[in-house]
Amino acid sequence: MERDIYDEDHEAFRGLVKEFLARYATNEAREGWDAAGEIDRDTMRAAGEAGLIGLSVPEEYGGAGMLQDYRFRAVVNEETIAVGAGSLAGAFGIQDDLAVPYIVHMGTDEQKQKWLPGMATGEILGALAMTEPGAGSDLRGIKTTAKKTDGGYIVNGAKTFISSGKTADMVVTFVKTGDGNRPEAFSLLILESGMEGFDHGKTLSKMGFHGHDTAELSFTDVFVPEENLIGGKEGLGFVQLMMNLPLERLSIGVAAAAAAQAGFDWTVEYTKEREAFGERVIDFQNTRFQLADIAATLDALWAYIDRALLIYKDGALSAEEAAKVKFWTTEREWEILDTCVQLHGGYGYIMEYPIARAFLDARVHRIYGGSNEIMRDIVSRKIAGKR
Ligand SMILES: Cc1cc2nc3c(=O)[nH]c(=O)nc-3n(C[C@H](O)[C@H](O)[C@H](O)COP(=O)(O)OP(=O)(O)OC[C@H]3O[C@@H](n4cnc5c(N)ncnc54)[C@H](O)[C@@H]3O)c2cc1C
Repeated sequence: MERDIYDEDHEAFRGLVKEFLARYATNEAREGWDAAGEIDRDTMRAAGEAGLIGLSVPEEYGGAGMLQDYRFRAVVNEETIAVGAGSLAGAFGIQDDLAVPYIVHMGTDEQKQKWLPGMATGEILGALAMTEPGAGSDLRGIKTTAKKTDGGYIVNGAKTFISSGKTADMVVTFVKTGDGNRPEAFSLLILESGMEGFDHGKTLSKMGFHGHDTAELSFTDVFVPEENLIGGKEGLGFVQLMMNLPLERLSIGVAAAAAAQAGFDWTVEYTKEREAFGERVIDFQNTRFQLADIAATLDALWAYIDRALLIYKDGALSAEEAAKVKFWTTEREWEILDTCVQLHGGYGYIMEYPIARAFLDARVHRIYGGSNEIMRDIVSRKIAGKR
């Protein structure tokens, strides 16, 4: 089914994104990122220069000023994943969907002035650190503390699984500024790379997204000035996270649909070329039927995503709707990519083939951004009328 949510501006922008990717996301570049375990800074800066990141940053701070309109970001996500550069898509996503929004929508004027121009150009890379070794799904169980002191806070604790955690210059960090686990006990503080006592610990070795760094962070008596308190007020951290999580989940949904689409496209191409028993693999009825099933699911996936993009643009994507989008799309993605690997035969298991990478990258979509069990919990609580 044809999609109709993009207009000429989006399509013109898509052209620019494709040009950028043809130049910067070559096979050689992807291999380099995988070997280094991170995206190089030059590529991120070039992306900033080409206008691929900082899309929601207001124009007065050097960004594209898209604010609630996620469609341009969706174009970047779709195209980057379509060329098999999942790690680069991940790095763009952390910058634009997980770090920038906290400054754009919740930062003080000073924070906007300090961070946004550099984040739009790719000079400053951000990350979001919520998860800890002992608390992932249950975020209120975090132990990282920020104790008030003269002019700021002293932060102690540790975070894990932080995407872009090694490369980030600034980390929006979920900390406890109060006692107990009431929502008001939490705040978001910006920790800056280079602050004394802030250690970028081990970079984790992952099943997928080999070219995007995921790291442990540790904080020992780190002094963080009070200007780095997001929104300039204590006790808002939990609510601030809740405000941005629908976007994070929508972005995972877009990535899931894009990866499923790319997997389908690669598989059609591959099965047209590959022969067995004197026939092309695509001529077997089983292959054609499987592809027909995928094609129908893709139509449903895009229709769902497109609707969510428009609802988000109107500022009305609720936590429950975003949770549904996240778990449903990532589960369809997983099924589709599994079928695509199968239709590639042995080559589907070989990392040289983009389908193998996409399959491994996809696995975490059901885990991060809130696991799919937590997504079902959010949705089902609403259905059951529970808080
Ligand atoms: C590659 C990668 C990148 C990540 N990037 C980031 C990042 O940038 N920033 C960040 O803060 N975090 C990040 N994470 C962390 C991620 O969000 C968490 O791993 C995820 O939320 C799950 O938390 P957990 O690992 O502690 O699992 P747990 O919470 O220990 O869960 C274990 C299992 O129990 C299930 N479970 C837990 N509670 C319930 C419940 N109430 N009902 C039913 N089942 C339940 C879970 O669904 C899961 O299956 C990343 C993780 C990975 C793997």
